[in-house]
Amino acid sequence: MALEEYKKKRRFNETPEPEGKLERGDQRRFVVQKHRASHLHYDFRLEMDGVLKSWAVPKGPSLNPGDKRLAMQVEDHPVSYFHFEGKIPEDNYGAGTVMVWDMGTWEPLGDAREMLNKGDLKFRLHGEKLNGEFVLARMRSRRPGSKGTEWLLIKKKDEAMQPGFDIDKLDYSVLTQRSLKEIAGDEGSAEWESNRKARVKRGAEWLVKSSGDRKPKLTTKDTKGHKVQTGDRKTQEQKKSSVKKKSRRAA
Ligand code: MN
Repeated sequence: MALEEYKKKRRFNETPEPEGKLERGDQRRFVVQKHRASHLHYDFRLEMDGVLKSWAVPKGPSLNPGDKRLAMQVEDHPVSYFHFEGKIPEDNYGAGTVMVWDMGTWEPLGDAREMLNKGDLKFRLHGEKLNGEFVLARMRSRRPGSKGTEWLLIKKKDEAMQPGFDIDKLDYSVLTQRSLKEIAGDEGSAEWESNRKARVKRGAEWLVKSSGDRKPKLTTKDTKGHKVQTGDRKTQEQKKSSVKKKSRRAA
């Protein structure tokens, strides 16, 4: 059942979004996509059991423990959605502009599946903008016929909290550094396999590389303008930085 609803809602000959499939393996990455559809919202996604468990958060996540953000659970998305950034054409489901607002890894603070079923999912994020402990708590609805899809996303008090957190000051993609307006105005970004991949930020490659059935090719041009795989020409500097990254992750 995992991705049926996702597929039913979309026409893949029109939208640049990935068709996707169930993934093997159980990595634990998270992504937050800023999505200007009919209403601006943020999509909060946790990789679990081969899909991205997804919540639409109208006001976006916050690092202020005083903010309780409504989070509507939506259909599971394919893992290959992880680095989707671009434009969903008019008249398609979710039409509008999508930015990769944050990404990283997450750690469940307990048994992930059990906490999800219970409606009390506690976890820690290791992202570029979002860090520290959070909880997603399912609201007990008094409305008859409620689908039970309303949750609250709340920051726990810890060293990563920011009481004055203002999400509007962080209008940039962690993948390409572009603002939502810049993405909206960039025709090329609508194409999944477009050359935008060359602009993936250094250091973000490892998150993007292992995801999805349509792997972006991290190509760049050499001095003569020929396309080369960045993986084939690791400079000393890059090697050094990947060593640093590993030790940071191990910490
Ligand atoms: Mn959305």
